[in-house]
Amino acid sequence: MSIEQELDIANRDRILAVLDEMYGTEKEGFPHEADWQLLCAIMLSAQSTDKQVEAVLPSLYERFPTLSDMAAASEGEIEAAIRSIGLCRVKARNMKACCGTIQSEHDGKVPKNLEELIKLPGVGRKTATLFLADAYGIPGVTVDTHVFRISHRLGWAQGNTPAKVEQELMAFLPKEHWNRINFQLIYLGRSICTARRAKCGECPLRDWCAGKI
Ligand code: SF4
Repeated sequence: MSIEQELDIANRDRILAVLDEMYGTEKEGFPHEADWQLLCAIMLSAQSTDKQVEAVLPSLYERFPTLSDMAAASEGEIEAAIRSIGLCRVKARNMKACCGTIQSEHDGKVPKNLEELIKLPGVGRKTATLFLADAYGIPGVTVDTHVFRISHRLGWAQGNTPAKVEQELMAFLPKEHWNRINFQLIYLGRSICTARRAKCGECPLRDWCAGKI
């Protein structure tokens, strides 16, 4: 290993330790009693805050208590139950179709692997990875807009697509950090390493960040 690589690893480890201190190593998942409910909650969370999702979950589960209820409901009924969530029409359509597919093609059980999950209507790679992490603790890196931006600023990734950055992060980060790097960088991205202007002067990662300004 070259001196530069050793330095990169040392800086990475300092940054990961600070992120653990700042944001913890575990994030509480969405409340649920069944796997299909967790999958629906994660689908709802795309471009919405966890708080917004948690506010609609109790009434959603009460109105559609089983997978069959959700699959049999009309899109309009589901939409009405999640109206306070962004993109509610599309999400209602996807949730109905997804639950219907789980019922008809998977014997009512949510698949436990990425390849099958991403074939479900409305389930992309990010949703599938988050689901596998929350439901089964399966390690995976999810790259959203914050993770994408900050990974580049930190010098951890150069890829121009989320899929490439996901591969780079999986190669660069120790496996035990894969699941938590997503929420840690989201929190950092909302408060300090913001999209419009990074607040490097107040950032605890400043000493080891390649992109500080
Ligand atoms: S030092 Fe600046 S660029 Fe680096 S992570 Fe912190 S806010 Fe972002």
